[in-house]
This record gives sequence, C-alpha cells and structure tokens, in this order.
Amino acid sequence: MPDTDNKPSQNFIKTIISEDILNNKNNARVHTRFPPEPNGYLHIGHAKSICLNFGIAEQFNGLCNLRFDDTNPAKEEIEYVESIMEDVKWLGFDWEDRLYFASEYFDKFYEYAIQLIKDGNAYVDSLTPDEIRQYRGTLTEPGKNSPYRNRSIKENMELFEKMKNGELEEGTHLLRAKIDMTSPNLNMRDPAIYRIKKASHHRTNDKWCIYPMYDFAHGLEDSIEKITHSICTLEFEDHRPLYDWFLEKLNVFHPRQIEFARLNLTYTVMSKRKLKKLVDEKYVSGWDDPRMPTVAGLRRRGYTAESIRNFCDTIGVAKRESTVDIALLEHCLREDLNKRAPRVMAVLHPLKVTITNYPDNKVEQMQAVNNPEDESAGTRLIPFSKTVYIEKDDFMENPPKKYFRLSPGKEIRLKHAYYIKCEKVIRNENTGEITELLCTYDPASKGGWTNDGRKVRGTSHWVSVDHALDAEIRLYNHLFTKQNPENVPDGQNFLANINPDSLEILKNCKVEQSLLDYPAGSFFQFMRQGYFSKDKDSANEKMIFNRSVSLKDTWAKIQKK
Ligand code: ATP
Ligand code: MG
Repeated sequence: MPDTDNKPSQNFIKTIISEDILNNKNNARVHTRFPPEPNGYLHIGHAKSICLNFGIAEQFNGLCNLRFDDTNPAKEEIEYVESIMEDVKWLGFDWEDRLYFASEYFDKFYEYAIQLIKDGNAYVDSLTPDEIRQYRGTLTEPGKNSPYRNRSIKENMELFEKMKNGELEEGTHLLRAKIDMTSPNLNMRDPAIYRIKKASHHRTNDKWCIYPMYDFAHGLEDSIEKITHSICTLEFEDHRPLYDWFLEKLNVFHPRQIEFARLNLTYTVMSKRKLKKLVDEKYVSGWDDPRMPTVAGLRRRGYTAESIRNFCDTIGVAKRESTVDIALLEHCLREDLNKRAPRVMAVLHPLKVTITNYPDNKVEQMQAVNNPEDESAGTRLIPFSKTVYIEKDDFMENPPKKYFRLSPGKEIRLKHAYYIKCEKVIRNENTGEITELLCTYDPASKGGWTNDGRKVRGTSHWVSVDHALDAEIRLYNHLFTKQNPENVPDGQNFLANINPDSLEILKNCKVEQSLLDYPAGSFFQFMRQGYFSKDKDSANEKMIFNRSVSLKDTWAKIQKK
C-alpha cells in the first residue's frame, strides 16, 4: 500500500549513497543524472528512473542533470527532445540550468580516444564485421586476438585520423579498446570505441563521420559532468567493469555505477522500439494515445503527476527483475483523485424519464456536495425538471430478486433530488426497444430523503433533459489481452496479443452543465462510472472525456484477500 506519511522511502541505493556521504566520498557531494536517448517518448519505466534520480538529489541536497544521450546519429528527433523535457517538468522535476547533450562532448570523446591510442590501450582493427564476430568467441569459448591488435601507435593514429576524415568506408575499420580477448566477460573482449558512420547528426550535422559507442561515451559523459552516482538498469551490470576500465585508464573523475531492476507492467510493453511500432503502424492514435504507457499517454488519460510519483515510490527499487500489476498504478490514481476530483453526474447510455406529476415548466436548483472527501470543495446547484435522463442500466423491466434499481412499481432515489417510482414503460412499436419511462415523484422527498422512515435502497445519477449537454466519452481497456504481451507462439510478435476492444467510444452521452467551465485536463468522478478527464481535443461545442479508471479497485481487493 502506498506510503501515507510523506517520509522519503529508503532503498539499497540510498543506503549506498548515505555510506558514501558518511565516508566523505566526493566531499559528500551527491550528483545524479537522467540520461534518455531521444529516440521516443518517455514511458512509465522512465518515470521510475526520473523519480529515483531527481528524488535522490532532492533528498540528499544534491543536483540532478537532464542529459540527452544523443551519441547515435541516425535516430534522434527534435520532437522527442521536446516531449522529454515537457514530461520531466510535468512530473514535477527541475534540472535548472543543467541541460546537457552528449553530442556537445564529441570533441572531448575524440581526445580521450587519442589518449587511449597513445597509451597503447586502443587500436584500429581492420577485420570485417563477420570476422570480428568469429574472433569474439562465445560464453564458453575464449576469443582470439585480431591480427591487427599489435599495430604500432603511429599506425593506429594514422588510421584513426583517416576514419575521422571520412577516408575509410563504413564497416571497414573500428577503434577498439585493448583489454582481454579471453575475459569471461564478453564486454571486456576488446569492445568497440568508435565506428565509422557517415550520417548526419541532429545537432552536429556533418561534422563527424565517426561516432563513439555507448559503453565508451556513457561513463565519460558522467565523468565530465562530475556525476557521483550513475544509476542505471540491471542490464548494465555486466558493463560495469568496462565503465570502470575506461575511467581508470584515462585517469579521470570516476562516478560510481549502481544498477537497479527496470520496471515492467502487466498488459503493456515498455520498450520505445515497440511503442514506436504501435504508433507507426497506427495501432494507437499517437505517442499520447491514452492507452499508451507513455507519460504523455498517461497524462492525457487523466493520470496526475502526484499519482505517478506515488506509484514510483510505492513500487520501490530492487535488484531483481519483476513485473508490477497495472492495477497498482490504477489504484494510485484512484487514491489521489478520490481526495481531489469533484463528483459530477454524467449519463453514458441515456434513457429518458418523464415525471408525470411534476409541474410542466418548473425548474428547481438542487444542491449537490462537490466532494464528500473534501468539505472545502463546497457545493453547487444542479437544475432539475420534468424530464431527466438516467442510465439505461439502471432500469430493468423484469428484475431478479434483490435488484435495487428502477423497475415497474419500484421506487429509487435520484441523487440530490427526489424519490421517483416507475409507473409505465414506453417502447418503440417497431423495435420493441424501451424509449421512455413514465414515473411519479414524491414531493416530500426533496434532496433525496424523507422523514417517514421509508427505505429506498437504489440511487441513480441523472441529468435534466433540457439542461444537459452532449458529450463524447471514451472508455479504455488494456492495450493487450495478455498479462505478458511478449508471450506469443514462435514466429509471432507482441502485436499478436493486441486487444481489439481497447477503445470504446460513446457518442451520445449527456453530462451536467457545470462541466463546460473546466479546462482540458481537468479531472472528475462521474458518479458510479469512474474517474474521467477532459480530453485535450475537447471543445465547448463538443466535449470529450476519457475514462481514466473505473471505480472498481482490483488492487485494494487483492490486498484484502
Ligand atoms: P527502452 O528500452 O524503453 O528503449 P532505454 O533504456 O533504451 O529504454 P533510455 O532513453 O536509454 O531508454 O533510458 C533513459 C534512462 O531510463 C536510463 O537510465 C534507463 O536505465 C532508464 N529506464 C529505461 N527503461 C526503464 C524501465 N523500464 N524502468 C526503469 N528505468 C528505465
Ligand atoms: Mg537505450
């Protein structure tokens, strides 16, 4: 269950940092970074990393940088850079003046590579990519030294210069670290440092035709920025010896790499490559489609930054991979919105009710509490009249026992208004469909109660026909039908598990007038229907709402069992 006292949670990374501070390591300074590659929008897994890195800086009076890891020229796009900045800010974090791009360090990386060559720690290899693979060996077999491994420093310098000047073709030469081809750790078998890639970069344009490899560049980026604790996901654990090797050989500032388990969520995928496929192949309407696990998608769905931060705090940080139930994320949103969302009435599937004994042109203003969880939210007035809409599901002509909603001869309460009793059912002669109910009301039940001790168990929400506004309401289901979408027969991919019913659009909904005044992004509880938010495409002429979550808290249920 989420922490209710707002104490920062402890985890193994914070324990390590506390020890480093006690030992006065780096003069007790704490400096972290969030280093996204700008090749897609951020997802909820990135949010975990953002909360962790910025949260640690905040807790230990340190700093956190936002750094775009844009060393790979082919994939980066400005749109991604902008969306990432927007999402980090929206989550509530501030990099102040510490916005960096790894591509700004290309000159330095180049100098470091030269230093490695001069110290005999790097060489230019001329094996073909295929040969390099063969020479690398396997997990059970050691690798073999390349015949080019013992080139002289002078020759290496000349060849590297040619690589840089574009005189050599892609795939023909590679600058490699000279470590150990027999190391049991494959990452240490003379890994690549620089490759030739005659591609234009979104920030450095055509200045470079060699680009540094991630493992070489990343530690140096951290070092240049004097990062004290470089927090990354578990798959980099085996790369740590290499991270350390570069920094030691170059004798530069040496951050400490700490790994944690990445976040996985049920019923969704969490890799930018796969999310991009969903966008490109139009399985969703865009990166901010409310079904996407992206920060932009969650925001549009109606998630609050608070609920996402609370979720990240609740799941904690561990050293072992696991998959978190998406019901927990939904639970965190309910907890937050329960406290904050105004309760309003919206009818998703309208059924007209005429109150035969109510005066024809009378309109009464009924007082409604905005949020029973928050007295300061106050009250509002809702117009009531002779004809109202109720939910189709709230009426049954031949109900089973213990049905407490409306049925012929039975009485229910209209929330904040009156008791009504169903007297007659009107149908379409041709289709037999119920088109209207004729009811009577009890004038003594104003406000939704009487003092004669009469028991009325069912309560329905409603809106006045003459006062209600039209709205489109979008209901969402999981994007995938399986908890683990990757679980597919051979030869298929995660797209085989896409849920064809993940979006249901209701076009003829009726909502109370007060919703007109709220800007896009506002959230509400539609009584008995869930939490909803006003969509960014909503306009006064045509309001659009997204269901963020239903009211049924499956997570709370799991916890009670
Ligand atoms: P993806 O696999 O989704 O493309 P990535 O790791 O390639 O993600 P980066 O842009 O390199 O994405 O990630 C930026 C930071 O976010 C990294 O420090 C990475 O460790 C962290 N991160 C990425 N995915 C997750 C996740 N699912 N859980 C926690 N942290 C994550
Ligand atoms: Mg990556």
